[in-house]
Amino acid sequence: MKYLHEYRNPELVSQYLREIEKVVTQDWSIMEFCGGQTHSLVKNGILNILPSNIQMLHGPGCPVCVTPLGVIDQAIQLAEEHGVILCSFGDMLRVPGSRKSLLKARAEGADIRFLYSPIEAVRIARENPGREVVFFAVGFETTAPANALSILHARHHGLTNYSLLPSHVLVPPAMKAVLEDDSRIHAFLGAGNVCSVMGLGEYADIVRDYHIPIVITGFEPVDLLQGILMAIVQLEKGIHQLENQYSRVVPDEGNPKARQIIEQVFELASQEWRGIGVLPDSGLQIKASLSEFDAARKFGLAPKQVPENQECIAGQILKGRKKPMDCPHFGKKCTPSTPLGAPMVSSEGACAAYYHFAQE
Ligand code: SF4
Repeated sequence: MKYLHEYRNPELVSQYLREIEKVVTQDWSIMEFCGGQTHSLVKNGILNILPSNIQMLHGPGCPVCVTPLGVIDQAIQLAEEHGVILCSFGDMLRVPGSRKSLLKARAEGADIRFLYSPIEAVRIARENPGREVVFFAVGFETTAPANALSILHARHHGLTNYSLLPSHVLVPPAMKAVLEDDSRIHAFLGAGNVCSVMGLGEYADIVRDYHIPIVITGFEPVDLLQGILMAIVQLEKGIHQLENQYSRVVPDEGNPKARQIIEQVFELASQEWRGIGVLPDSGLQIKASLSEFDAARKFGLAPKQVPENQECIAGQILKGRKKPMDCPHFGKKCTPSTPLGAPMVSSEGACAAYYHFAQE
């Protein structure tokens, strides 16, 4: 806890808040690009204490929220029709597909297991040589190394009954898409966890090309307020730079070993983002040389785009155009126990964060 207390210190929070109040002179909109940051901003009441001329916009930083309906349906199809042992992170449990969630499919008899690591799925494959095991691999750049490693691990053990159903998304292409869609965003707080893997390199181009400050930021209240202050100082000076508030965790070069593992297994691909659409080179697919570990190829799953529930405005929320409270179903027809859309399911989803913490 040594490194947590100091970043939750109320005196430091007050100090950064006073500095922000001293520096800010006009209206600014800052988008945080990580569901963990959104959760922390809401849970810790930071949105309520910021000066009224600073607006935080919540970007598409929740990996569960941007996982398309079609791939959730494919995961359910694998478990129900192909009889595989379908494994995934627990967050995916209640996310609705077009017909049902993984939780409902499990209640109806499908063998669906929720794990903390894809390496556990490899162990399950070794223990069940007569069954196919598929890990439904969802996430940003942060989960990609472990998912890639599971394939290398399975290959090392000579397994032929393990494969991955990946739905990996990448932050920089989504940042560009959001900027091209909305000119109200003045600065970004970048996701510290993503940069701890990928480093800062990819963000320099965005800063230069779009003339926008990006501050790579952590997740605790002091981190967030310092990151917001750093962004505001740049905006008030009329400059745009890439800065690293989270340098205690994020080296400029990220984690080269983790990146090397990603590059060994994955290659860039177009990716559908739920609520946003298909973005070129914004996802990762398994390389053809490892196609025996690609569940979609192995089981002949055809890509399919499934229309969203028209009642849910998640797309607007993920682009920062609307807040959860703007949705007519928020807290009424849509709650964490009766979710209409993914942002109400995931602990990192903006709707769930507002439901749990902003209504208190
Ligand atoms: S409150 Fe529910 S229906 Fe509305 S945007 Fe959020 S997830 Fe969708």
